[in-house]
Amino acid sequence: LEPLYQFMTRVRAAGGVTTPAQWLVLDKLADKYGNGTLKLTTRQSFQFHGILKRNLKSVIQDVNKALLTTIATCGDVNRNVMCNPNPFLSYVHEEVFGLAKKLSDYFQPHTKAYYEIWLDQEKVAGTEDVEPLYHSTYLPRKFKIGFATPPHNDIDFFASDLGFITIEENGELLGFNVGVGGGMGSTFGDAKTYPRLSNVIGFITPDKVQEVAETVIAIQRDFGNRLNRKNARLKYTIDNRGLDWFVNELNSRLGYSLEPSRPFNFTTNGDTYGWTEGHNGKLFYTLFVENGRVKDKKGYTLKTAIREIAKQVECDLRLTGNQNLIIGNVDKSALLTIEGILTENGVLNNPENTGLRLNSMACVALGTCGLAFAESERYLPSLIDKLDVIIKEVGLENEPITIRMTGCPNGCARSALGEIGFIGRAIGTYNLYLGASYNGDRLNTLYKEMLSEEEILQSIKPILKSYADEKLDGEHFGDFVHRKNIV
Ligand code: SF4
Repeated sequence: LEPLYQFMTRVRAAGGVTTPAQWLVLDKLADKYGNGTLKLTTRQSFQFHGILKRNLKSVIQDVNKALLTTIATCGDVNRNVMCNPNPFLSYVHEEVFGLAKKLSDYFQPHTKAYYEIWLDQEKVAGTEDVEPLYHSTYLPRKFKIGFATPPHNDIDFFASDLGFITIEENGELLGFNVGVGGGMGSTFGDAKTYPRLSNVIGFITPDKVQEVAETVIAIQRDFGNRLNRKNARLKYTIDNRGLDWFVNELNSRLGYSLEPSRPFNFTTNGDTYGWTEGHNGKLFYTLFVENGRVKDKKGYTLKTAIREIAKQVECDLRLTGNQNLIIGNVDKSALLTIEGILTENGVLNNPENTGLRLNSMACVALGTCGLAFAESERYLPSLIDKLDVIIKEVGLENEPITIRMTGCPNGCARSALGEIGFIGRAIGTYNLYLGASYNGDRLNTLYKEMLSEEEILQSIKPILKSYADEKLDGEHFGDFVHRKNIV
C-alpha cells in the first residue's frame, strides 16, 4: 500500500478562453475526480485540486479529449501566454490575442513523452524527442510571457519574464514595447532572491514578436543559472550580468537593435466588472469570483450558475488575470437569461462589494499548497470582512484598493504588486507590505513583520483613516502611503 497521494492538475487555455462544452467537461471532472470546485488562477489557467493519484491519468485524458491540455502548465518551459481576455474590445485587442495564442502554441514542448505516458500513445522506435528551442535540458526555470494593452495592465505586464505592451495609433497596431526580467517570487532569509519588475528595453513591430520571444528564451536557456534553482529565473540572469549585457546579447543574436520604446500609459491592473459591448456587437459580463474559486455553497451557487449558463446560452468563458470570469460573446437577447441565472444562484456582481474586495487576490496556500506557511485563499475573505468595517467607517467603500495575499513568498497571487500585500510567515502570522502602484508598475515595500490579525487591523486602520481624510483628488492608496512617507 502507498499513501493516498493527491495532486493538483492545471489546465492550459491560451488567454484563458474556453467554450461552454469545454467548461462543462471541466465542471464534471472537478466533481468526478477533484474536490468539486474549480480554481481560476492568476495566470488565466484552471486548477483541479484533490485529484487522487489513481485518477490522474483519467483527468488528463478527459481534458485532452475536450481539446484542452495540461502540457507545459508546470515545469521548466514557457507556460501559457497571458493576454487581455476580451479580444473583442477592439480590432487591435483581437490581433494581440491572436499573437498571444500563437506564441502559447509555438513554445509548447515537442516531447512525445507526455502523449506516451498520459494519452497511451505508442512509442515509435527512432522517433526520439527533439526540442529545437529547449534542447535536452529545457530551461533553468519556468518562463512566463504576457501581453498587455494599455490602459489596462490586467495581466500584470511587469511581473512576466517577457512582456509585450501593445502600441497602437488610431486603432492600428503599430507594435509592442518589450519588457524583460519580471518575476514575483523570493525566499525568506535569502537576500539573493527578490521580486522584480521587468525593464522595458525597446519597441518592435508585430512581425518580430515570435523571433524576439524565441531569442529571449534562448538567451535564458544558455545563460540562466542551472546550479541554483532559487536564482534561475531570467530576472537573476539579467541582474547577474547586467541589463546592458542582456540587450547587447539580444541585439547581436537578432542581428538588429530594438527601436526605442514608445510612450504608454497603464491606469489599472484590475478588471472592469459588469457588462461591456464588444466591437462585434456582442456582450461581455465580467463576474467577480472571489479568489477565483468556483464552487457551490449555501446561498452562493456559482458552479451551478456557470454550468447552467454554459448549457443554456451561446457564449464563451474567459478567465482574467485577476481570477475573475468573463461570460463572453453573448447575444443581446441572452442578457436577461444570464442575469436571471446569476441572480437565482446568488452570484450576480454584488453592488455591496467594496472596492477593496473587488480588487483582492489570494493564492491557494494551506490546504492545497505544500509550500504554504499560512492561510491565504481560505482566510483573506474574512480579513476583508473586518477591513471592510473600517473601510465603510471612513467612507472608502467605493475606492478601488488592490489587496493581495499569498501563503509564502513565491508570489503566485503577485502579492508584491498589491497596494496592500500580505505574505504568510506562519499560521496566523503575516508580513504586511504597502505602497505598490494601482497600475502595477511599482512594487510594495515591507511595512511590518509577523503580524497577527489584530495587529494587522491596528496597523492598517489609522492609515486608511488618514487616506480617507487627506488623499488628493484621484490619488490611489499606494501613492498616498508613499507621499506620506509611511513606507
Ligand atoms: Fe503556494 Fe506560495 Fe504559491 Fe501560495 S504563493 S500557492 S503558498 S507556492
